[in-house]
Amino acid sequence: MSTPYPFPLLIHHLLHTPLAQAPDQEIVYADKSSYDYRELVRRIGRLGSALTGLGVKPGDTVAVLDWDSHRYLECFFAIPMIGAVLHTVNVRLSPEQILYTINHAEDDVLLVHGDFLPLVEAIADRIERDVKIVALTEGAASEKLSIEGEYEALVADADPDFPFEDFDEETRATTFYTTGTTGDPKGVFFSHRQIVLHTLGIMLALNWTARHARFHRDDVYMPITPMFHVHAWGVPYGATLMGVKQVYPGRYEPDVLFDLIEKHGVTFSHCVPTILHMLLSHPRAESVDLSGWKVIIGGAALPQGLARRAMELGIDIFTGYGMSETCPYLCSATLDGEKIDAVIDEQVAVRCKTGRPGPMVDLKVVDPEGREVPHDGTSAGEIVVRSPWLTQGYFKNPEAGAELWRSGYLHTGDIAVVDEEGYLQITDRLKDVIKSGGEWISSLELENIVSQVEGVGEVAAIGIPDEKWSERPMLIVVPAAGAEVTEEAVKASIQAYADRGVLSPWAVPERVEIVDAIEKTSVGKIDKKLLRQRYG
Ligand code: AMP
Repeated sequence: MSTPYPFPLLIHHLLHTPLAQAPDQEIVYADKSSYDYRELVRRIGRLGSALTGLGVKPGDTVAVLDWDSHRYLECFFAIPMIGAVLHTVNVRLSPEQILYTINHAEDDVLLVHGDFLPLVEAIADRIERDVKIVALTEGAASEKLSIEGEYEALVADADPDFPFEDFDEETRATTFYTTGTTGDPKGVFFSHRQIVLHTLGIMLALNWTARHARFHRDDVYMPITPMFHVHAWGVPYGATLMGVKQVYPGRYEPDVLFDLIEKHGVTFSHCVPTILHMLLSHPRAESVDLSGWKVIIGGAALPQGLARRAMELGIDIFTGYGMSETCPYLCSATLDGEKIDAVIDEQVAVRCKTGRPGPMVDLKVVDPEGREVPHDGTSAGEIVVRSPWLTQGYFKNPEAGAELWRSGYLHTGDIAVVDEEGYLQITDRLKDVIKSGGEWISSLELENIVSQVEGVGEVAAIGIPDEKWSERPMLIVVPAAGAEVTEEAVKASIQAYADRGVLSPWAVPERVEIVDAIEKTSVGKIDKKLLRQRYG
């Protein structure tokens, strides 16, 4: 008698659909190579064979240091599919932090792009385990390191028919490190089951509106959130499941990105606001047709000024919200039904909200006693959440994990209000909150207002210490390319909101600094910690 099969939710099983439905669809690596899904699956098999040949066993950890590439996509699959853990190394951290993450994650193998070999050389004698190193790029050499081989050669020599077995869906599949504003980076981790459910969840969230924010087989996908940052928000897994054409751009250079958008007709991407800002401030934003490009903005709030500019170019822009600890998807801000026909200002207001919780996301905004705040658009509280795909703690750091999960919900550290329609609006991160004279001033609200002032390119609002008021808001503004902006215009924009009673009079800053550029974190967000240190 045959026995039923309790099908485990494994990353391996995301590959059946594209092979059955879209085997000829293309996967492109910048201007360097392209192949179809059949070849993708064969190369995943070869990589599984090659890694096993190197001695990688289930439970081992394999780290990747690469720009966004077809190789990285292969690693997203092959490494967890052999039961090992994929460590996506944030290559923009400092060498000391990278060393810390390699040691902390207990990496056994490092797959290293030639650009990062000097970095690995510099830290190699302090890597605690006996790691094996594979060079990802042809011709990459090192006098100091002993390199096991080069990726293409290893893959070419290996068996494409690696017998990937099924195993427990709770097996750890991936790990990476939060960029943390204080102390050492903290490791989050996700199981096969979590990644599979997250993949299904995001694909559903990207298909429940009729006329915008959809992701489908006829799209052309290009990530502009690095693959080391929360699995490029998990979208490569979803794109592969659906058999979508995928374009991996390598290192993010504006000209290369524009070339790829033009050449392949990219229709679906995601990025942090600063990257979109960089692209839309580039002269080619005027000449390359960006209409029909769908872009999810997350990782930081989408300023209304940037959203309007994107919409004027025909971009279907909308917000997604999540964090490293949440795999990352939690919310998205899409327009229901005929709201897609509303005037641009009304649309911008919705598209820039933090959004509504997505499938299988149990999310609440609570006061310090854990009671849900009223959905009135003004009562603020912390976002706490449960869903099938949240990190169950921090790797080898039970105290921080218990703190994250106090009360049985994951505490995001994000402060938000919820409106009558159920849309969240993050007003601050707990650590960015500006408290002046006992009142909370939303840094994101200030940024939103100033982002719409003529001539403003980028803006950051921070709290600076003040003897009398404990803190005062301060604004740091970068003019748009070729534009001018004055302190007075910036202050007047906020004063106008205060005069109408929309903002408290305390929100009007005394200090506005016009600068050439604002520093960013390793994942491209405005570095408020550094700004606070500098101006505080
Ligand atoms: P990370 O773990 O680096 O991805 O950062 C996650 C944090 O980014 C969240 O906790 C939020 O503070 C912030 N964030 C992400 N998405 C949004 C959004 N749509 N609006 C405002 N803040 C966001």
